[in-house]
Formats: sequence, structure tokens, C-alpha cells
Amino acid sequence: MKTLKDLFLAEVADMYDAERRIVKALPKLAKAARCEKLKAAFLAHLKETEGHVTKLEQVFKSFNQVAKGKKCKTTVALLEEGGDTVAEFKGSPALNAALISAAQKVEHHEIASYGALHEWAELLGNSEAASLLEAILGEEKATNATLTKLALNNIDKEALGERGGNKDSEKECSDQQPANVRRGIRPAGMNRKRAGALV
Ligand code: FE
Repeated sequence: MKTLKDLFLAEVADMYDAERRIVKALPKLAKAARCEKLKAAFLAHLKETEGHVTKLEQVFKSFNQVAKGKKCKTTVALLEEGGDTVAEFKGSPALNAALISAAQKVEHHEIASYGALHEWAELLGNSEAASLLEAILGEEKATNATLTKLALNNIDKEALGERGGNKDSEKECSDQQPANVRRGIRPAGMNRKRAGALV
């Protein structure tokens, strides 16, 4: 009979594999980004993600287990699809929006996974694992919020072509709301919250 602990350990192995794949993917996302703030956000999350790998090793240890990954099919699929979209939009003003969307899909999967793992660690009475998983969950949520902010402040506008087509590929994305948004004139598609703003 399989137990909650078995499920927990199987899911930790899944995320251990996912995080190691994300460590390899983030430098590619950073390299592709056409905005310094987005690039910096990806690189900052790379450092955190390396920390997530270490934290998951500590979670395994807290259950007297050796760290071992199990292929995370979801992350494989999300990274593959994201890579295809980014390749398709290379050189387009919508590239940064494509990068953010791909990254947020990965973040949402991680947020769902770590939310469950944190609860299960508490149910299993392992406070060390619970606090490690809570720390990872907090960083995933913060990264998602940063990406949402970057998208709403600048990148979605750029994707509409209002600034697109120029060669200013390394420009810094503004923290300011676009002027038309400040005036309350929102372009189509910005009247509703982005899905990424759910957390
Ligand atoms: Fe992570």
C-alpha cells in the first residue's frame, strides 16, 4: 500500500529533476531576453534555482533519503514548448512577452507543486522539510510576481508594436506604467489581469 510519504518522496524527486532542467534553461532565457531588467530577473532566478536544488537535497536528507531525480514530464514539455515559441518569435517585438509567458508557465507548475509538497511535509510532521519547501515556494511566487510586473509595465506594450521594430535591443525596460495606461487608455488585452497575476 502506497503512503503519503511515498507520494511526497516521488514528487520531491520530480521537482529535483525539474529544478536541474530549469538551471540549464534559465541562462538561455536570459541570453534571449531583449531587455536588461528581464535578463537580470532570469539571472537572479538562476541563482535561486541553484539554491532550490540544494534545498531539495536537504529535504531528501531530512527523510534519510539519497537525492534522486525522476524525469519531470511536465517541465520537459513546458521547456520544449517554450523553446519552440521563443524560436518562432526570435527577432520579433513579441519576443520578451514570449519569454515571460514561457517562464510563468514553469513558475505556475512549480508553485502548484511546492504548495502541495509544503502541506504534505507538515502533515508528515517534518518541520525541517516544510520550512525548506516554504522558502522555495516563496521565491517561486516572488519570481512570478516580478515577471508579471515586467510584462504589465512595458513588455506587453512593446509586443503590440508600439516600440517594436527598432534595433534598440538592449534597452532597459521601464518601471513606469506606459503613458497610455497611466492615462487610463489600456490597449486591447490589458483590461483584464494577466493569468500570471493570480499569485
Ligand atoms: Fe524553482
